Amino acid sequence: MPTTLEAKTPRLVTALPGPNAKRVLEQDAKFMSPSYTRDYPLVAKRGHGAIVEDVDGNAFLDFAAGIAVCSTGHCHPKVVSAIQRQAAELIHMSGTDFYYESMPQLAARLGRTMPGTEGKKVFFTNSGTEAIEGAIKLARYATKRDNFIAFYGCFHGRSMGALSLTASKSTQRKGFGALLSGIEHIPYPYAYRCPHGHAAESCGAEILEQLEGQIFKRLFDPEDVAGIIIEPIQGEGGYVPAPKFFLQELQRICRQHGIMFIVDEVQSGMGRTGQWWACEHSRIEPDILCSAKGIASGMPLGAIIARESVMRWKPGAHGTTFGGNPVCLAAALATMDLIESEYLENARRMGDYLFGRLAGWTKNFKIVGDVRGRGLMIGIEIVRDQGTKEKAADLRNAIVDLAFHKGLLVLGAGENTIRLSPPLLIDQEQADFAVRTLEDCFREAEKKA
Ligand code: PLP
Repeated sequence: MPTTLEAKTPRLVTALPGPNAKRVLEQDAKFMSPSYTRDYPLVAKRGHGAIVEDVDGNAFLDFAAGIAVCSTGHCHPKVVSAIQRQAAELIHMSGTDFYYESMPQLAARLGRTMPGTEGKKVFFTNSGTEAIEGAIKLARYATKRDNFIAFYGCFHGRSMGALSLTASKSTQRKGFGALLSGIEHIPYPYAYRCPHGHAAESCGAEILEQLEGQIFKRLFDPEDVAGIIIEPIQGEGGYVPAPKFFLQELQRICRQHGIMFIVDEVQSGMGRTGQWWACEHSRIEPDILCSAKGIASGMPLGAIIARESVMRWKPGAHGTTFGGNPVCLAAALATMDLIESEYLENARRMGDYLFGRLAGWTKNFKIVGDVRGRGLMIGIEIVRDQGTKEKAADLRNAIVDLAFHKGLLVLGAGENTIRLSPPLLIDQEQADFAVRTLEDCFREAEKKA
């Protein structure tokens, strides 16, 4: 009999939340900032592979992966031993003032994964937000221009610069006063809700017309625009992929006007979509690529990867005390080994498998409006009515909660989408369990609809 953590599927031993979890929730309510958003009361204690155990010994199948972070699963032995080895040797010196062997080692490997023949340079950060914040500065520095174009629905982080680009939920901005000026948001090509009724691969032509015909003519001269930033697949916004032609056209516009083409791959990157980076599916070559989340299997690390002709700022122009900490770098190197040797291929294979299993869901369930994404970045949009496409946030929330009570961890994205972002190591048995569990949840939710 396997232990709870060695099992491949969930085992619930208490009502949820259990007694120990309840104690933690009470303490949390007393001492923690109320700004955190928890969808359900999971109090995580241990993890292994795609299984997470809570403080009461309940084991869950994790299709959230700590918000698309634990790419190699929880506590992969190779990642753990890389962390342990490094922690016993050296924890910190600061890569801003001193050198670490692993810094250029990881930078060279990351640079090789980014599309484009030109050499790449890398700046390491502690988070996705910091990668975006640095990219804003780098684009301004490299172009000597101020303005940016970003997209509705995109999430880029919550520090004042990154938040100025974020246009995901107004609660994320409310109460924080004036943000960066010189940022214009335009619609994201959201094929399921395309106002012009275009198909998935052709949605967005009118947005490009608006950019070139209106924004560049009436608001910002393109020669004053430092960067256009986009998530190739919107994450927090609802797991919405941008069409290939759209990304290619954005690149053309950027090249034509000397604008930095910046892709935010914090959520979509590092193997999740079956390629190192989601932008590879569209054969684009960004100038700056921002990464974090899955890059170090849960250790805090982000990276700004840029063409070497772009990352030419002078010593002191940008720095960080902790960014590129050696323990995080060791975890990232082990993570890249695993993604390269096994999980890129597995993400592709299990992504295809899951999409195959979900293919009929818009027919099988009247509350499923759309199933979309790539690889193991899958969004299921929940609607009240397939004809009107009315968003059903309440049903989505009910499904997420029902899944938790059946031992499956999933998260919402956007107003009414369920996101599946499991660790890249899941197998068919786990994919089948997730599909069966979601089917049960959807049936129950439909009765409430
Ligand atoms: N960019 C994207 C696309 C994200 O999904 C996130 C976080 O969800 C961020 C940036 C911010 O990253 P972090 O939370 O590591 O600061």
